[in-house]
Amino acid sequence: MAQECIICENNNANYCIKGMDNYSYCKECALQQFSDVSLLQRL
Ligand SMILES: [Zn+2]
Repeated sequence: MAQECIICENNNANYCIKGMDNYSYCKECALQQFSDVSLLQRL
């Protein structure tokens, strides 16, 4: 099941915080929030 980005709620999420897959972000928002996706886990 595809998860939505919790920020923009439009895009499907591609990343989540490790171990917290209810905090999911699309790539754009992940980069905005964390400036890097290496801290995140791919969905
Ligand atoms: Zn987003």
